[in-house]
Amino acid sequence: MPVRTGRQYLEGLRTQERQIWLGGERVRDVTEHTSLGSGAQAIASLYDMQCEPDLREIMTYRSPATGEPVGLSFIIPRTQEDLVRRREMMLRWARATCGMMGRSPDFMNVTFAAWAASADYFGRGRPQFADNMRRYYEYVRENDLVLTHSLINLQRSRNVSGVYNLKEGTALHCVRETDAGIVVRGARILATLGPFADEIAVYSPRVPLHAEGHNPFALNFAIPCGTKGVRFLCRDGFDQGRSSFDYPLSSRFDEMDCVVFFDDVLVPWERVFLLGDVELLNRTGVETNFSAHSAHQGAVKNLAKCEFVLGVALLMTETLGNSQVPHTESYVGELMLTTSLMKACIRGAEADAKVDKWGVMCPDPVMIESSRNLFMTAYPRMIEILHLLGSSSFMITPSKADLEGSLAPDIGQYLATDNSTAHDRVRLFRLASDLAISSFGNRQVLYERFYASDPLSRARALAALYPKTETKERVLAFLRRDEDF
Ligand SMILES: Cc1cc2nc3c(=O)[nH]c(=O)nc-3n(C[C@H](O)[C@H](O)[C@H](O)COP(=O)(O)OP(=O)(O)OC[C@H]3O[C@@H](n4cnc5c(N)ncnc54)[C@H](O)[C@@H]3O)c2cc1C
Repeated sequence: MPVRTGRQYLEGLRTQERQIWLGGERVRDVTEHTSLGSGAQAIASLYDMQCEPDLREIMTYRSPATGEPVGLSFIIPRTQEDLVRRREMMLRWARATCGMMGRSPDFMNVTFAAWAASADYFGRGRPQFADNMRRYYEYVRENDLVLTHSLINLQRSRNVSGVYNLKEGTALHCVRETDAGIVVRGARILATLGPFADEIAVYSPRVPLHAEGHNPFALNFAIPCGTKGVRFLCRDGFDQGRSSFDYPLSSRFDEMDCVVFFDDVLVPWERVFLLGDVELLNRTGVETNFSAHSAHQGAVKNLAKCEFVLGVALLMTETLGNSQVPHTESYVGELMLTTSLMKACIRGAEADAKVDKWGVMCPDPVMIESSRNLFMTAYPRMIEILHLLGSSSFMITPSKADLEGSLAPDIGQYLATDNSTAHDRVRLFRLASDLAISSFGNRQVLYERFYASDPLSRARALAALYPKTETKERVLAFLRRDEDF
């Protein structure tokens, strides 16, 4: 089947019954729900982009199985040109959501493309798992499905460092094996995009977090979101059905985050990719390079987000008439620096990409993983800079109803600046507020701090990749110059 249209994607969401819970109620149709409908529409519009005649060449490639156009983020990159093409496609998607939907479908598409190429890794000791992986990737690609994922186990305490503290009764584990598949029980976080996905993938982060004895918790599988016993618990929605003038981002791009409960869920054997092998699970990141590919998608999203924040900042300073004030220039310069660094990480990772042992052109892991570590602190700082630039203007943000109400003449007179009408000022600052001070905006900051793991795990992930020997050797060579001392 070729790429789906937005309408076909929404139809798929409607026809697969699933358990989505929000505010104490089960959501029967996410596409019509006040808090969820707009998120579904946002994903649908990404699907529509794939079908636009002018964009088809950029957004798709020929399926190796059928020759039909399929989403370009499914491509298994074999050359640097493939990586560049994939980046250009992902940037189109990321810019369409202003970088606010980090878990757009390309995030999981690049992951499963990397795993399909390295499928033999999963076949160690159980060759059928390698076949399962290859078949599943083709199935997702050919049906153009949306996947959510949950990597993290809920923990009752964090009294051990560096590994999960896993307990049956809380963390997701295999309860038993049957002829039909495995039965799993427990809870996982944090399935962003859960209500908008066709399938959920369960695996483990790049950093090894499972220890000896964790075999029942060592899992990698994917199932339809509507599988019996799977329940998604949503946080509060940011879209409250308010106008897109008042909340330009909340009302469009809430990708939602969910806790997922698995209540004795049967995972058919053909959907199991790894079971019970802690070492195999822990080495998945290093051996398959999937994380370098998902970091490539993440960096592209970061770039779109940097560009958007920078654009908002430039317009804010223009509107307020403070763009020539020295400290304003310095803040804006910092935003430009982060944006340029993000671009450099992406281009550097593509330029230094190498074909890995699976024949996949892999973005340079240090460069591309650096973009994740960088953004964990850079994005909160970018938002802090918006605060510093905007100050009380974030509070001078009458709503659409105010602009149309009795105070409209006062608003029109007093809120205008030398460079802007009151209407344009308010419109811009409603956007800036949604980005920098709303619940939606704060969740974006939290997302960037944690979506790719906690800061310590990220530091360890980068340290594990960084070529340290050469770096130390240069210093030792310098020290050896005084050898006779
Ligand atoms: C908005 C958002 C969206 C997300 N989306 C997804 C998603 O789509 N899929 C997914 O799988 N995950 C997702 N995540 C989850 C993310 O992967 C986790 O938040 C992340 O791995 C950190 O885990 P945690 O939240 O349990 O933090 P914690 O492990 O509780 O860490 C919190 C802080 O405590 C510190 N800490 C933790 N344990 C210890 C210890 N033993 N000793 C000392 N310090 C410690 C950490 O360094 C950190 O600073 C998302 C998270 C957020 C916030």
